[in-house]
Amino acid sequence: MASGTPPIQHTLFPHAQMRSGQLDFYNDARAAAHEGKILLANAPTGIGKTAASLSGALESALMAGRKVVFLTHRNSHHIQAMIESRAINEKRKAELSVLRPECPSLRIIDKISKHRMCLLRAQDPSDDSPYLRCEIANCRHSRPKPSVPISLLENPISASESVQRSLLEEYCAHYAALAAVRDADIIVCDYSYLFDAQIQGMFRTRLGRALQDCDVIIDEAHNLPDRIMDINAREMDEKTLKNASRALSEARKLAADSPEMLAQISLLHSYLKNTLSPSVKLLVGESGAAKEEKRLTRQQLSLFLPATFAQQILENPLFDGETLSTLLYDTIDFLRAESSKPGEGGRMDIDGLASLAELAEFLNSSEKAASGDPAYGAFLRSSEDRMLFRIRIALFDPSIISQQIFSDVHSAVLMSGTLIGKKGLCDLLGIDGARTLGIEEGAYLSPFDAKRQRVRICNWVSSRQRERTDASRLKVMAAIIDEAARACAPHSLAIFYPSYEYLRMVKDNLVLSGFRHETEMRGERHPLVEERKIRIESRTFEDKPIAFHGVVGGSYSEGMDFRNNPFKLIIIAGFPFPKPDARHDAYEGYLKGKFKSDSRAQELASILPAAIKSVQAIGRGIRKGEEYCYCLLIDDRFANYIDYFQPSFRGKIELLAATEKKKIWEDIYAFMAQMDAAKEG
Ligand code: SF4
Repeated sequence: MASGTPPIQHTLFPHAQMRSGQLDFYNDARAAAHEGKILLANAPTGIGKTAASLSGALESALMAGRKVVFLTHRNSHHIQAMIESRAINEKRKAELSVLRPECPSLRIIDKISKHRMCLLRAQDPSDDSPYLRCEIANCRHSRPKPSVPISLLENPISASESVQRSLLEEYCAHYAALAAVRDADIIVCDYSYLFDAQIQGMFRTRLGRALQDCDVIIDEAHNLPDRIMDINAREMDEKTLKNASRALSEARKLAADSPEMLAQISLLHSYLKNTLSPSVKLLVGESGAAKEEKRLTRQQLSLFLPATFAQQILENPLFDGETLSTLLYDTIDFLRAESSKPGEGGRMDIDGLASLAELAEFLNSSEKAASGDPAYGAFLRSSEDRMLFRIRIALFDPSIISQQIFSDVHSAVLMSGTLIGKKGLCDLLGIDGARTLGIEEGAYLSPFDAKRQRVRICNWVSSRQRERTDASRLKVMAAIIDEAARACAPHSLAIFYPSYEYLRMVKDNLVLSGFRHETEMRGERHPLVEERKIRIESRTFEDKPIAFHGVVGGSYSEGMDFRNNPFKLIIIAGFPFPKPDARHDAYEGYLKGKFKSDSRAQELASILPAAIKSVQAIGRGIRKGEEYCYCLLIDDRFANYIDYFQPSFRGKIELLAATEKKKIWEDIYAFMAQMDAAKEG
């Protein structure tokens, strides 16, 4: 504990006992909140992160009248945060009434995505438009009655419970939750509320408080740099241009009584139809981006620059100094207002108006990339016939968004079971080293028995690009997996590969007889993931074991907990370096420039992400104390990068030399026999 933190007087920890590592984490979370620090917490699975971080931060926050914002992107973690928050209310009534006698109950708000909290969507689940009515025009549910947020604060319920209740009481669960944020003590929500440039302003206004009055807890924080880059990327495709052009054509009717707006809309429509769309088509045709994504040059991007648009409107003093995106925003505001007027006659098509907004956002970002800002890059991918395309404006520097947030908040806890490379994480996020706590590498004590996990590296084969196309090397990889699976049977195993292509190539060479195969598909998401999970869980006790094939960093290698976890052997078939494509090369190139070091850039862009993903996948093996797992890492590069794994984990890893091939079978068989015997005993 840091020296300035007062001793515990009124603990809000909601359970009878704290595990040893959990107590250390709780003390550090308290210290961070008391002293306004940024805690980097490498907290292993099973330690009880949510209870420790929430109760640790709350004590100081409540006394000082601050809020706790708990950020997570996983549904299961929303549920856990709500369970722990409600447990504090139930089990720590006496302590709460001492800390805040005037309002001894915690006011908790759970906020999931707008789409999932929309009343209209809940009433009509078949509506699959990507846009919601209130994003385009007025929705009568956007101003909930004051009694609704008050009731949510007085009797905290989860976001999904609120949606169920909204169907009976006819209120919008999204806006009701936002209206309650101002008076909430704890807000559980997605990263995007603080880290999406488009919505953070709205959320900060809703908070009714400066970020200096907030303690922020970030769950699964190892993901934060990638998530920030992802949620702040902007995309445009052929549908965006088509729908936006159609929307502007329709919009002229709404502007009939406003000559200036009519002129503006006509000019935008003409520019989109006659200049921008043909230019983009030409760009797509010439790019050769059908097989793989291509980076667009500044020259190619110049068609999105304000100067290009200005050439079209130089003759028109009305638009002097305007950029295309600002004119689009202005037009959208006008159309929203017109669409919201009573009567159906003037209503705009939702998808068309939303495409205009998407185009405006895209152009706003593309102007940064086109003007040479190195933190942005534009990438194009198209279909073989060039009819379908997508242009993505990527952000390479998450600190552009996060540096100010971490400088503004009163305190923060960045926690994860794989928070390795903490210094690198701070560099990527722009966190001031002087404010950090727990920056040294190391983890809190795991509650799991180290003997129940064995980790071995096979270092006589790899998944390097040159070995992927070598049939004999693929056979060696497959033979090791077959051998390991035989030793593990009748238990189930999960094999994680660095990519879908490599999964297919190795799987084609496997024998793996006697197993039921489950294979993750590219881009597999909810509800398919949920269906497969249920299928795997329901087969756990059947006679045939499961061989699950997935990719490292896919939907199953992170954050997936199986009831009665069937996997006793986890194999990572290849060191999961990111795919060396145009976007990755550009990202690493940006980091080289920023940190003036090739090796630092490679470490941050390639090695650390691969190490974190590997540890996440290995972690699927043990989610509870009574479970056990053998982990086989097949690639000599695991041995090269052992120093990037958590210190506690490094100690468990042993190398299997090529001369010990036979030992794989013996070692796995002996481990399973020992664990099974202990279970029986
Ligand atoms: S206001 Fe609420 S109910 Fe109406 S469209 Fe928006 S999210 Fe849906």
